Amino acid sequence: MSEHARVLIVGSGPAGLTAAIYVARAQLHPIVIEGEPSSTTDQPGGQLMLTTDIENFPGFPQGITGPELMANMRAQADRFGADLRVSKVQRLDVTSRPFRAWVTDDVDPSITADTVILATGAQSLMMGVPGEDRLLSHGLSTCATCDGFFFRGQDIAVVGGGDSALEEALFLTRFASSVTIVHRRDSLRASKIMQQRAFDNDKIQFAWNTQVVEVLGDDHVLGLQVRDTVSGEERVMDVTGIFVAIGHVPNTTLVTHQIDLEDNGYVRTGLGSYTTVEGLFAAGDVQDHVYRQAVTAAGSGCMAAIDAERWLEAQGI
Ligand code: NAP
Repeated sequence: MSEHARVLIVGSGPAGLTAAIYVARAQLHPIVIEGEPSSTTDQPGGQLMLTTDIENFPGFPQGITGPELMANMRAQADRFGADLRVSKVQRLDVTSRPFRAWVTDDVDPSITADTVILATGAQSLMMGVPGEDRLLSHGLSTCATCDGFFFRGQDIAVVGGGDSALEEALFLTRFASSVTIVHRRDSLRASKIMQQRAFDNDKIQFAWNTQVVEVLGDDHVLGLQVRDTVSGEERVMDVTGIFVAIGHVPNTTLVTHQIDLEDNGYVRTGLGSYTTVEGLFAAGDVQDHVYRQAVTAAGSGCMAAIDAERWLEAQGI
């Protein structure tokens, strides 16, 4: 038999756990499906579990590690009675209410819910080359805002040719001695204004027509094996840091074809966290392709909790 939740929260990054704290404090007894540790897309704690020190989350003047911050948020949600479960939603039906969620292969839904807060986050697109997984957080990063500070005085590379790559590169020039943008073609996809800024910056150079073949180093990045996409020649680039900025993908598989998404695949939200389905709210990186910060995700989790609470009240549920 299914159990019923007034609020079901899917995801346990800063958005999901902040929503859990607020919903639990409103005495609405949320069930939180946190994700599974074995998965890179649904792991409990979300993308912050992949970062090292976080120095820009307000309230931690000495910084805090990603896993520690998430453990603290989890403990706070637990303290107020959120029902936290290390498990994965395999299927979600939001076409009629109550919504239905499956965490097993059973025919019957595991949980029915009056409202769902979708906080499934996003993931960075990765290159899929040898060394990438091993050196993630050991000189290889997907977030300049999070990790740029640790590359002071170093020669580093940014992979990608879009606005994200140029934005990351420009930000990284504050710390690094040099930033080489490694792009697989000979022209950039980024907007003209970002291109101009990058061209005008003395610290930025370009490796055109260049594809990363392997990230080198045992326990820290020591270089990149790259290939010229025109001549096929390979060489080693001497860098001690690499930022992969080839795009993000929101984790929307659970709701595809059930709600409106933006053209770029992110969940469309209107006022606050309202989606195009009544009773379904979205928070964090699954609906935010602009800011993508832990603190903004937490803020939108708070908004989703308040929206859900008010919506339930208005429905008299
Ligand atoms: P994007 O525009 O899709 O650019 C991705 C870049 O990565 C492209 O240059 C692409 O190369 C390259 N790439 C993709 N897969 C690759 C691979 N496997 N190996 C090597 N290179 C690969 O993504 P984005 O830069 O994250 O931007 C996403 C959206 O957000 C865009 O609409 C962008 O304008 C917007 N955005 C705006 C701002 C801003 O306005 N400040 C900042 C960030 C993002 P190709 O060019 O060869 O395809």
